Amino acid sequence: MAAYAIVGFGCAGYHAAQAIRETDSTGTIDIYSEHPDPPYNPMLTTYYASNRLRYEGMFPFGTLEEIEDNYKLHIYPSVKVTGLDAENRTLKLENGESRAYDKILLATGAYSFVPPIPNECPEASISMRTLDDARRLRSILEEGTISKAVVIGASMAGIKVVEALSNNGVKTTLVDMAPHIFPLAAYPQTAARIESELAAQGIRMKFRAGLTAVRKGTQTRAAAECSDGSVLPADLVALCIGTRANTALASAAGIQVGRGITVDPSMRTSAEGIFAAGDCCEGCNLQDGQHQIIGLWANAAYQGYTAGLNMAGGTGSFPGNILHNITHFMGMDFIGFGDNRIDGTRIQFENKEKGLWIEGVRSERRLAGINILGNCRISGILKNLILGMIQEENGDGLSDFQKGILKQEGLSHEFIRSLEGVGIHD
Ligand SMILES: Cc1cc2nc3c(=O)[nH]c(=O)nc-3n(C[C@H](O)[C@H](O)[C@H](O)COP(=O)(O)OP(=O)(O)OC[C@H]3O[C@@H](n4cnc5c(N)ncnc54)[C@H](O)[C@@H]3O)c2cc1C
Repeated sequence: MAAYAIVGFGCAGYHAAQAIRETDSTGTIDIYSEHPDPPYNPMLTTYYASNRLRYEGMFPFGTLEEIEDNYKLHIYPSVKVTGLDAENRTLKLENGESRAYDKILLATGAYSFVPPIPNECPEASISMRTLDDARRLRSILEEGTISKAVVIGASMAGIKVVEALSNNGVKTTLVDMAPHIFPLAAYPQTAARIESELAAQGIRMKFRAGLTAVRKGTQTRAAAECSDGSVLPADLVALCIGTRANTALASAAGIQVGRGITVDPSMRTSAEGIFAAGDCCEGCNLQDGQHQIIGLWANAAYQGYTAGLNMAGGTGSFPGNILHNITHFMGMDFIGFGDNRIDGTRIQFENKEKGLWIEGVRSERRLAGINILGNCRISGILKNLILGMIQEENGDGLSDFQKGILKQEGLSHEFIRSLEGVGIHD
């Protein structure tokens, strides 16, 4: 009977446990989680913090007891794994105990990066990643004593914090070094549209400026000092600057690590019998073949499931993905597919009646990326179109059925043709 261990119980760890149990009905599966809660969706934490979601709503897979029962697992909540002996496939626990396994999965996720800047007001600063971060923001909002906030980082996480603050009547300024919002996903014109909608909803924005220090405030609790010399008074400074992969266990065990743990498409690391999945490891960006941190929920699920399958003797492979974001905030739906750094012929479409805006880039006779504002129903079709073009040297294009859906959702015949490359010379 095989013995499996999973370190970290988020989206990747959960899907790995599911795949192991579906493939091996008898092996033992031990799961170590450093916190006491079930796997949660970090994308939902700000909804809980702003009282728009019940506490239970953050746990998409149920309670620990339910999950343990469903998949016959041994879950060890509030147990941190502190060491890994890769050669002997042994985990060291906080209490000093060592346990050996046949296969081990590292699914340790990522942590919020806090820049090494002077911070005179840690009590007025927050990050947003964990349940503790969410509880802290919620209690701050419930106290109702903050009136001004600064959010650093115009990312998917940053905008969710802006939304939570703004919904609670806090005057909020969003700050980023980049020239526009969602610098890793949005094209400039789409970003400009999002920014003007945010401004209309009372959000202030400052771009091309980074945080250099958090100082004590005079009228407010703190003040955010920025690289352009400005000082923004704030009762709360939210640091949503980015994340870093939790790679410490792997590095200390001599496993190959780049920006995240290095894995092959079967999620094997450089050490025999040790796998990694989710935000702690790298994935392949199918558009350039480069390995990078992907940092997305769906990616963590696919990687986790693939790892579990292979750990239990099945065969699965996750070649990678294109960069993609689907997010809803402040009444807007933003969808971004593909690498927005790729240059080429720009195509744009607007249907004012339907509140729909689409901006794309074609490069080397294929669609390299697309931004959609105002419609998430067409996202699957357009993502598959890009993926098909990348994986199958132009793919099959759009079926008549797909074209019919796009037309029904408000796209014009001409724009649909330009998505496929008809009439575009690039
Ligand atoms: C605010 C926010 C907004 C986001 N928005 C989006 C979005 O719009 N779209 C999208 O696709 N993705 C989004 N993401 C990213 C997405 O949530 C993550 O990619 C995904 O949750 C990663 O899952 P994971 O299982 O790899 O990691 P995690 O969920 O981080 O789970 C890892 C777990 O391992 C535990 N752990 C770590 N080390 C140890 C140890 N030594 N011992 C025991 N346990 C350990 C951690 O406590 C954690 O519970 C967002 C994330 C945040 C924070």
